[in-house]
Amino acid sequence: MQAIYSYQAPDDLLKDRVILVTGAGDGIGRAAALGYAAKGATVILLGRTISKLEAVYDEIEALGKAEPAIYPLNFEGAQWQDYQDMADRLYEAFGRLDGVLHNAGILGQITPLQGYNPELWKQVMQINFNGPTMMLQALIALLQQSEDASVILTSSSVGRKGRAFWGAYACSKFALEGLSQVMADELQNISNIRVNTLNPGATRTQMRAKAYPAENPESLPAPEAILPAYFYLMGPDSKGVTGQQFDAQAPKKA
Ligand code: NDP
Repeated sequence: MQAIYSYQAPDDLLKDRVILVTGAGDGIGRAAALGYAAKGATVILLGRTISKLEAVYDEIEALGKAEPAIYPLNFEGAQWQDYQDMADRLYEAFGRLDGVLHNAGILGQITPLQGYNPELWKQVMQINFNGPTMMLQALIALLQQSEDASVILTSSSVGRKGRAFWGAYACSKFALEGLSQVMADELQNISNIRVNTLNPGATRTQMRAKAYPAENPESLPAPEAILPAYFYLMGPDSKGVTGQQFDAQAPKKA
């Protein structure tokens, strides 16, 4: 099988699909939103900073692609009812969802467990895991309206093997891996919804620069360079693939 990091997506891969991207205003989420729109999708741009979402909206409009939508939401404060309202509003506007890329996240502290601020720990778990879980619970009914729906949960290498000092961030990514497996197993035989996790690998973004301040950002791929895996998992070529873990970049040669 062709490696997903060298997958070549046709121009109309996502034609007529409605796809929600969380954290669409910056970094990898911004690149994925633009990439999905370029491949024909109607993209719902979800995030907490409206000015950033508006800038992405304008970029998609400038491409002459399907008009996107903006959905402002902060995972930190949103409650169960907010996600129910979100599902209602998306149902009214689109009637279904063909895909969700859950990409939003924060880093928290990189510090020994003993000194980890417990309030920050809760904040990281809320933004990276609890909020997105409630969102997905609310959106399952909309995904069930699609003939071919894909959910991608953004993981990390530290969400698959724990590493010292990565604290709540690592634990939140392990939790997303668990959610992906539970969802995939539950939905496998009763719906057209597939659920997988994707580890972007080291990518040139603000989060990466915060985690590794001494690293030269130019040594890393830009978000646009890692999109093939995001296309493969969102488009019809991954139909039937569910409950699996993927990497967006080839393993580094020793
Ligand atoms: P960025 O920090 O560049 O982007 C994160 C996005 O998430 C931003 O759009 C941000 O919005 C949004 N976000 C943060 N908090 C909230 C919130 N409370 N509510 C809604 N949206 C929020 O990070 P990356 O692009 O680097 O990371 C994207 C994903 O990839 C993350 O899940 C990260 O863990 C994962 N990842 C990244 C790696 C890398 O090397 N870059 C490596 C492994 C995994 P705003 O801009 O408004 O703050």
